[in-house]
Amino acid sequence: MADFLAVAGFLGFFAGCFLLVYNMLKKKKKKTAVLIIFLSLFAFVFGIAFSETSNNDTGTTAQPVASESQENENRIETNKDEPDPAAPAVNGTDPGKDTGDLTPSAPTSGLKVHFIDVGQGDSIFVQTKTKNILIDAGERGSTIVNYLHNLGVTEIDLILSTHPHADHIGGLIEVLQSFPVKEVIDPGVPHTTKTFETYLTLIDEKEIKFTEGRAGLSRTLEPEIYMEILHPASPSETNLNDASLVTRIICGQIAFLLTGDIEIEAEKEILGRKSTLGSTVLKIAHHGSRTSTSYAFLQAVNPEVAVIMAGSSNTYGHPHAEILQRLTEAKVKIYRTDLHGTIVITTDGQDYDINIKEPYSYVLPKEPAGQVSTTKPKPTPAPETKPAPTPETEPATEPEPTKKLYVGSSKADKYHYPTCRHAKRILPENEVWFASIQEAKTQGYVPCGVCKP
Ligand SMILES: [Zn+2]
Ligand SMILES: [Zn+2]
Repeated sequence: MADFLAVAGFLGFFAGCFLLVYNMLKKKKKKTAVLIIFLSLFAFVFGIAFSETSNNDTGTTAQPVASESQENENRIETNKDEPDPAAPAVNGTDPGKDTGDLTPSAPTSGLKVHFIDVGQGDSIFVQTKTKNILIDAGERGSTIVNYLHNLGVTEIDLILSTHPHADHIGGLIEVLQSFPVKEVIDPGVPHTTKTFETYLTLIDEKEIKFTEGRAGLSRTLEPEIYMEILHPASPSETNLNDASLVTRIICGQIAFLLTGDIEIEAEKEILGRKSTLGSTVLKIAHHGSRTSTSYAFLQAVNPEVAVIMAGSSNTYGHPHAEILQRLTEAKVKIYRTDLHGTIVITTDGQDYDINIKEPYSYVLPKEPAGQVSTTKPKPTPAPETKPAPTPETEPATEPEPTKKLYVGSSKADKYHYPTCRHAKRILPENEVWFASIQEAKTQGYVPCGVCKP
């Protein structure tokens, strides 16, 4: 039909021109000829535009034609500057397009969030009625690729890579090779590993839309589901973990806060920006490391459910006992991929359902001194657990097995020489050790005025 219009318009245009010239020569009225030219031009443009749209339906990552509103409607809304929940909603006026996004496991409304067990690393898959969003992909892609294939996923609308550490982006390489991807959002911090370079090259080669994730960026996933980036405003280049994208997804009364590997410094920044943090589900930052999830941050988020993503018996000792204790004291239900495997939370915007019926219960220590020493990992100095990846994984973040030069208390913000009289008063269960002054400072500690470290 569209092709016929284009051809008819094309022929009509010439017929009109011929008639116009003929009439001019004969000094007859030119009105009819001009009308024919206009009508056929219109038919031609309309026909061409329509036939292109239908061809693109079978294409994979075709860029939208600027003049075609239908194309744009089916893409996730781009809105760099300000949250705009009233942005044009996805109305699904073109059913042929939407079927590509609908997978057998996708919810018919609401939200399904899969915290996929990838061992030591993060990968979260978010499904709405028409959108597939992947946040990180662990270190090896095969787990994620298989998982998504089993769900019947054929394309990914949006990938968020929180930060360039291999336990988050390593798996994205295989994902990018296996699925058509419409867009990648990334904090845009430089990193020199081979993994990161390969990942960037793939995005480039496949001409995938690349967006730098900044606080304030937001997307409407469905008319009732909204996603916003809360961090970074300007990413830290010295601590990659603190450059992590922090995303809040809101579906009715239920919100998810997904924090990547942010540490205390980034938490302070986020708290300082006074954005709304309150969320039903909190993905605990940095695999449950004591470098993150400060009291203040936890209080601001006030979650009912905490999901900790860590590898079973990982050498970092994640999740750390302090964090489990903190969550338990705050009466937050704890779910752990190292113990429960993949955790799937489904919500209709009112209630939520978790595929794991029994949360993990942490027994609060009665004899703190003994408890803490048993939960701490034995000093295994290698910051690297797996053979394949480059030593990029988490080099600066888990230093406690190496050197203990300075000590602070989890209840205060000073760091000391271990010989300082104030240091000796810190209860063993509250001790936080640092290998360097830099490390103490990045975790928000200031030097003691007495021992002046
Ligand atoms: Zn990590
Ligand atoms: Zn990291």
